[in-house]
Amino acid sequence: MYVSMDCLLRHAAEHHYAVMAANALNLEMARGVISAADETQSPLIIILGSMAMAKHSTPELLAPLIQRLATETAAPVALCLDHGKDLNKVAKALYNRFSSVMIDASQLPMEENIALTRQVVELCHPLGVGVEGELGHVGQAAALDGRDASLYTRPEDAAYFVKETKVDCLAVAIGTAHGKYPAGFRPKLNFDLLREIKAATNNMPIALHGGSGSGDDNVRKAVEAGINKINLATDLQEACRRGVIEASEAGGDYMKMIQASEQACKKLLIHWMELAGSCGRARNFTPPYTFPNLQGDVKNNGTGE
Ligand SMILES: [Zn+2]
Repeated sequence: MYVSMDCLLRHAAEHHYAVMAANALNLEMARGVISAADETQSPLIIILGSMAMAKHSTPELLAPLIQRLATETAAPVALCLDHGKDLNKVAKALYNRFSSVMIDASQLPMEENIALTRQVVELCHPLGVGVEGELGHVGQAAALDGRDASLYTRPEDAAYFVKETKVDCLAVAIGTAHGKYPAGFRPKLNFDLLREIKAATNNMPIALHGGSGSGDDNVRKAVEAGINKINLATDLQEACRRGVIEASEAGGDYMKMIQASEQACKKLLIHWMELAGSCGRARNFTPPYTFPNLQGDVKNNGTGE
């Protein structure tokens, strides 16, 4: 079922687990991650960034594919624009029926970040589209940005940001970074800071970006400390790449290679869903727009009387 991510993340925050936010660049990845959700009965968010959409994953083609696949499973699936930098990117996602968006104005000064994020919330909420904002800045793993504590999110700022913007989810900087870490490097996450942010924001759904390469132990502890959305791209793409290479080395034709990439993607995501504690959570999921809610206000008969 195709849903917005805000209801998934509220449930995750209430029940202390995380929803995987998995990247999907093509048919094989989309079907791999949705079949992982279906098999484990996990809620799922699929993330798609502007750069990938410009280079290869045309949203006009990929969004309808994901939406169609989502209707084939009882597990709730959301599609979220990842790191939207401006209103144009958000508008394009809405036009393509993304159910959720992330507005990332984390490189702007605080008040400008708040102003742009609030504008996106005011645009999206009447459409039933959930919004994630970012405060503090999650940088690049290759530049070792995760070690720079000056970029970390401050709990008092997080509380102010959430109150002013009314976002549904907050991406925080607590020590991870995007992309591939140097060989042998494991990031050090500040779990105490995460717990402080969680307390200051009244159990707000919190997102961890740069999940790839952070290590199983760190991920489990992050979920325990209050993470409710885990973004995963680099490791999934790497699993697909390895699937293709292994099938090719075994003498497989192109069909075998793309099928192997889909299976590798599915297998890796199931492992992460186990770490996130999301398996089985879709079983009792009730969609927010049940029939009584779609009747509108029965007291208002539409005549204005
Ligand atoms: Zn990110």
